[in-house]
Amino acid sequence: MIAALSNTSTEPYWTSAIDAGAASPALTADTSCDLAIVGGGFTGLWAALKAREQQPGARIVLLEAGRCGREASGRTGGFCAPSISHGVSNALARHPREAETLIRLGRQNLVDYERDLEEYGIDAGFRLSGKLNVAATPWQVEGLQAMARNYRRFGIECTLLSGEALAEKLDSPAYVAGLFEPNYALIHPARTVSELRRVCLANGVEIFENSAVTGVSRKGADIVLQTPQAHVMASRVVLATNAAAPLLKRLKAAFIPIYDYSLVTEPLSAAQWASIGWTGDFSIADSGNQFHYFRKTPDGRMLWAGYDAIYHYGSRRDAANLQRDESFERLATQFAATFPSLADVKFTHAWGGIIDTSARTTFFAGRAFGGQVAYAMGFTGQGVSASRFAALTMLDLLAGRDTERTRLKMTRRWPVPFPPEPLRSLAVQLAQKGLAEEDLTGRRPPFLRLLDALGIGFAS
Ligand SMILES: Cc1cc2nc3c(=O)[nH]c(=O)nc-3n(C[C@H](O)[C@H](O)[C@H](O)COP(=O)(O)OP(=O)(O)OC[C@H]3O[C@@H](n4cnc5c(N)ncnc54)[C@H](O)[C@@H]3O)c2cc1C
Repeated sequence: MIAALSNTSTEPYWTSAIDAGAASPALTADTSCDLAIVGGGFTGLWAALKAREQQPGARIVLLEAGRCGREASGRTGGFCAPSISHGVSNALARHPREAETLIRLGRQNLVDYERDLEEYGIDAGFRLSGKLNVAATPWQVEGLQAMARNYRRFGIECTLLSGEALAEKLDSPAYVAGLFEPNYALIHPARTVSELRRVCLANGVEIFENSAVTGVSRKGADIVLQTPQAHVMASRVVLATNAAAPLLKRLKAAFIPIYDYSLVTEPLSAAQWASIGWTGDFSIADSGNQFHYFRKTPDGRMLWAGYDAIYHYGSRRDAANLQRDESFERLATQFAATFPSLADVKFTHAWGGIIDTSARTTFFAGRAFGGQVAYAMGFTGQGVSASRFAALTMLDLLAGRDTERTRLKMTRRWPVPFPPEPLRSLAVQLAQKGLAEEDLTGRRPPFLRLLDALGIGFAS
């Protein structure tokens, strides 16, 4: 193990930085309700809060397998995008006919997200501080130029940077160009979950933690959710279980669990931040297929994450996979190469999380049990803000409302399903090999071009 990683906590920095308080009780007696929500991450909590707004008198019950926000929502980078489509370029490439709508709805969602935080007094650490996209190679520079053209086409403010102008935002030998977009936010992930949970409870949502749902069935007019000790009989159900093994058989091939890893440094001094030119509060991501995303924490550390995207045969999910020395060492080595002046900095936290990767790189939503159950998942690494939109989409679906959200082809049409093993592993390996090759050469290999033509993507 390299020295910089010799004393890291396995707990995500975010959850270690807040006091989550006592757990809500587990469900121990059968109960019935108007709406049951399975999953207490961003998606489930937004669904509960928005459902309460829409149905003030309804009985709303949320069931969480562990503690709220201990899975993806408490492990993210907290990049809060003005997008529901994994960015403007992705919307144009994959959904050209409705790209304009997707881009508009994604931007409006971020405005509404901030408004909701303000209205409910949610202290999410939200700041609209912008994002810097950086490029390391000539083809990545071209990619940023294309991105800037796409942004301008939709009236989205952005600035291309190089030389001195780039060094004033970030001074690293690794990057030669940048694109700064001011309309991009950051949140403190664990605080956001904790606050959403608090506001849900204050608004009469009943939350049961340590209450995993093990089965969904129908009894008469109700949907029955089975937990280890008791049942919930619900008129309507939201499934917000993200990357966990899905409760509905039909969802099993719709996404795969991909492990993504993060490091957080010890607090950096003002001189250390100045040595890399990063004096602002904006987030940064580089531009490869295998990309890093990095940001500051409120107490002056750097989160440095991404690059590896690890799939385990058979879509295996295992808590042991949340720690992966090989990925942490790769990240630490890349950090030292990117920021030579910080090569001696130590990391204090190292953790992994599971990304629900769909073959279209954006979430999908749908209904089951004759329209009484709705689900939304497949966020593929961009779900912080999209989770709010997905929650609203599910509530529209359950209410049978015909809205701009429910009419979206992006969410209505299913992503191409992943094939069964061993083909699944083989396809993931081939895609990852192709993405790495493109990062090195700038040329998209034939296998990836074939997937593009079939509308299939792979990202994290
Ligand atoms: C390491 C990492 C970094 C990321 N960084 C970013 C980022 O910077 N920006 C961004 O936009 N997105 C990012 N993402 C993606 C984003 O975090 C997710 O899309 C988002 O948190 C999804 O929220 P969720 O509520 O759907 O899922 P989760 O937070 O995973 O919540 C699902 C919940 O359902 C519960 N659950 C599952 N099964 C059951 C069951 N049977 N019964 C009861 N409860 C159940 C789980 O315990 C869990 O708490 C990242 C993801 C990871 C893993």
